[in-house]
Amino acid sequence: MTKNTPGETILTGIGASPGICIGKAYLVDTGGVDIINKYAIEGKKLGRETDRFRSAVKRAMDELREILENIPEDFRQHAYIIETHMALLKDKMLYGKTIDTIEQDHVNAEWALKQVVSDIQSAFKNITDPYLKERSNDIAQVSDRIMRCLTGAETVNFAEINKRVILVAHDLSPADTSQIKVDRIMGFITDRGGKASHTAIIARSLEIPAIMGLSEATRVIKTDDLIIIDGTAGTLILNPSEQTLIDYEERKNEYQARQAAMTRESHLPAETLDGFRLFAMGNIELPEEIVSVIDHGGDGIGLYRTEFQYMNRPDFPSEEELFEKYKEVIEVTSPKSVTIRTLDINGDKALMNGTDPEEENPALGLRAIRYCLKKPEVFMTQLRAILRAAAFGNARIMFPMINSCEEVLEAKKMLKAAAESLDREGIRYRKDIEIGILIEVPSAVIMADALAEMVDFFSIGTNDLIQYALAIDRGNREVSHMYNALNPAIIRMIKQVADVAKEKGIKVTMCGEMAGDPFHIPVLIGLGLDELSMNPQSIPAVKSMIRSLRADDAKKLMQDVLSKKSVKEITDLIQETYGNILSDKKFAA
Ligand code: PEP
Ligand code: MG
Repeated sequence: MTKNTPGETILTGIGASPGICIGKAYLVDTGGVDIINKYAIEGKKLGRETDRFRSAVKRAMDELREILENIPEDFRQHAYIIETHMALLKDKMLYGKTIDTIEQDHVNAEWALKQVVSDIQSAFKNITDPYLKERSNDIAQVSDRIMRCLTGAETVNFAEINKRVILVAHDLSPADTSQIKVDRIMGFITDRGGKASHTAIIARSLEIPAIMGLSEATRVIKTDDLIIIDGTAGTLILNPSEQTLIDYEERKNEYQARQAAMTRESHLPAETLDGFRLFAMGNIELPEEIVSVIDHGGDGIGLYRTEFQYMNRPDFPSEEELFEKYKEVIEVTSPKSVTIRTLDINGDKALMNGTDPEEENPALGLRAIRYCLKKPEVFMTQLRAILRAAAFGNARIMFPMINSCEEVLEAKKMLKAAAESLDREGIRYRKDIEIGILIEVPSAVIMADALAEMVDFFSIGTNDLIQYALAIDRGNREVSHMYNALNPAIIRMIKQVADVAKEKGIKVTMCGEMAGDPFHIPVLIGLGLDELSMNPQSIPAVKSMIRSLRADDAKKLMQDVLSKKSVKEITDLIQETYGNILSDKKFAA
């Protein structure tokens, strides 16, 4: 928290949904119950205590069911999130473990629930994947609801909000969010949560600015306080001065005008002024996000992360269940293409009640393709589902975290076995599916020439490549400032991969976050990438930047970029060369 102009307070959190809004705060108490006392339950009263817990869960379930039944049209695409929360209410690790704890420790239900949730939260601590990490938030939200039912604490009635406000909450569950009248809410701020939280996903799809993880927002802000939220920067200004208000009003109008202009043009091709055609694709985690990709002018799905169906459940999804989901994604996107990435997860964490030992260093552990090759039955189920679904449109398959030629050989062998088993059973599938790999580990960059002979395309995953190449944990405040896509080592790595791909005649795409920033576009065009895949909201800005540049200029720029030795030199060079376009378009450096 910093003080700026007298009376003005600035809080910084995580920009969860871009945009600016200015208005009165409305504080809602949606969090859990703060103080939980522990007391002992006599043996003969244990049955009554577990029944009390069961009926609280039932009440929570009834509340969610009612919310689901009355879900407004705008939120229908997010109904699955509430269904997931309903499933979590009865999940063994939450429901079963709480009952076990009451019975074994002879404690009250509130205390048992608190203990169980705290154990689950610590199990999530080691997870590095930000998306998965956020799932612990779902557990917290579900347990908050049970706790309120147990203690009889009041629940917020969102329907009562009858003026245009900015919501300030400790946490907002997807169920809370679905009750909000979108025309009354200008933006959200929460103490908890992050970019990958379900509430953030909802805020982005509704295009409402949001900041999350502000930790002390509900302590510092009061209802009716005047606040500004900048969801792009993750900055909140409390009690802004007259001048700050004028500045932000202007920024807000510019932002809205720019968005409108970019959205109008987002369906034009991603082609440079001198006719070099790229493809701007969207990254999705859920079928519901395809609409957003298409609405933002996406040329297809460049990365379909398939982890979601493996999470928050005690078992693995069946082939049929996966097939139906993939088929839906492929059919809805058709004739545009979908790149389905096979499971990129540490399976124990995915299922949350795995029995394998904890890993000390999960980022370097049994992740992604390593996990799949170790669990052939899990992998085979997914491969068969992908091959079958691919017959219904335009789909490619991609293996994550490839580290060596052997892994590609193994993965392809499994894919072949999946195809043969479908042949034997006379089941229809796509025989000529294109196979790609994610280049996100430095060893894959070094081996790119050999790997290129084994696959149809490369997709550069800069999120992981930067972390592994620079040995930087982005979540570690001490070193995260060094995590930068424009590090000369990263640029050289991408160049090596792109050059090898060109030489071997295979396509090279990028699906890490680097691809979604207009500032990086001159470099990515200069490097000759064929396709860029990003979060759907970034597509209009990226396309707009591509359409403002000449590829031959970007190629010349690359010569200079490659002679630079630091992030600063590269950033300055891009700024000098393209600063006027970037500032015309109001794309921040
Ligand atoms: C990447 O690492 O850049 C990538 C796209 O994969 P994920 O972000 O899912 O790890
Ligand atoms: Mg990755």
